[in-house]
Amino acid sequence: MIATEDIEHCNKCGFCLPVCPTYQLTSNELQSPRGRIAMIEAAIQGEIAIGEGLNDSLSHCLDCRACETACPSGVRYHRILETGRDMLRLASHSKQRSQPSFATRQILKLVKKPKWLRGVMRVGNRFKKTSLPKPLESLKPFLGYTEQQIAKVTISSSTATCTVEFFEGCIMSAQFADANQAAKNLLARGGIQSDSPVQQGCCGALHLHSGYAEEAKAMARQNIDAFLHSEKLIVNTAGGCGAMLMQYGELLADDPKYADKARQFSARVRDWATVFKRVQHKVPLRGSGKRVTLQNSCHLVNVEHAGQDTVDLLKGVTGDLFVPYSGQDSCCGSAGTYNIEQREWAMSILEQKMIVLADMQPDLIIVNNPGCHFQMRWGVQRYDWDADRVQHLAVYLERAAQRAERMLDQGERVDA
Ligand code: SF4
Ligand code: SF4
Repeated sequence: MIATEDIEHCNKCGFCLPVCPTYQLTSNELQSPRGRIAMIEAAIQGEIAIGEGLNDSLSHCLDCRACETACPSGVRYHRILETGRDMLRLASHSKQRSQPSFATRQILKLVKKPKWLRGVMRVGNRFKKTSLPKPLESLKPFLGYTEQQIAKVTISSSTATCTVEFFEGCIMSAQFADANQAAKNLLARGGIQSDSPVQQGCCGALHLHSGYAEEAKAMARQNIDAFLHSEKLIVNTAGGCGAMLMQYGELLADDPKYADKARQFSARVRDWATVFKRVQHKVPLRGSGKRVTLQNSCHLVNVEHAGQDTVDLLKGVTGDLFVPYSGQDSCCGSAGTYNIEQREWAMSILEQKMIVLADMQPDLIIVNNPGCHFQMRWGVQRYDWDADRVQHLAVYLERAAQRAERMLDQGERVDA
């Protein structure tokens, strides 16, 4: 795919620069969306070499797509980025540089087998208090999860009575099973039943963004087939996965057998919060006097365009105070395997966020994507805060629903 049309749409206005985390970090045009587009255009036209300079610029891009949301001309930056990365992969001298690290390659294998992933998490938890050698330090946020979080989610077989289909996700089902269960429970409280087709697998986002497009396409086809039996909405609890599922139509546009099916599949995808928001009036939510803030998944905001649903739900919890801040929709630096591949930059981006949060001193930081969950846990641990200060939206809301239920049982008013 050469995104010539998208490149031509860029009028170099620069409106995207202020929202770009890597430009904010460096003030360097070459680390901005406009600079990257210009470099890719120059490389296509043979004006610059497809080499180290291009690689340095593109490999530091988070692919967070904040630039797309800010762009008044509707430039589909991610397609241009993919063109540039394809060029780098094809250039023989850069092949070695484009190869993901050993740690990333192991993660890509593990996410295809949630059972193994759970096993690794359990073993890892035994070492949660052990200080890790420097090369393994980046794995620390993956450790220290409770058995309840790792517990296996029961995947039921398909029935005709469900209202939505539930996409479990690899890491969500292996490590944040409590969040998936909480989302299902909340939807059920609102009168929506969930069903989880057994043949579903990992969404393929990590593979696609690590340069394994063919593997990602195979995973997309498997998921499309798994959900083909119905036309119901497909909901999930991870902004990154949801964005990937919504892109299957684009990913398989040239596949004669799957193009239509992929488009139809993508049109059915919603974040669980978008669906729950429709029925939230049936589910009283009561907080416990906490100051709550948010790390919104950038893909949920910029690709699914559903970030506001999370904000609205947080505002609907009586008794807690939602405290917004200007960078809540900005990427935390996790970005798939970016915090492994580009660790220094990822930590600098996180640190900018943590400085703001340290000033705000929230009791809870709500997340809606597993990558953000790992990254923000890493952030709060660096500030010696309790890791449980980071909570998935569904877990937080289910506790609020349970609290409200207890109060109502005791004849107390939830909204007082
Ligand atoms: S995707 Fe994100 S990091 Fe990359 S250029 Fe756009 S705003 Fe910057
Ligand atoms: S990508 Fe959009 S916002 Fe950025 S310079 Fe080009 S036209 Fe302007």
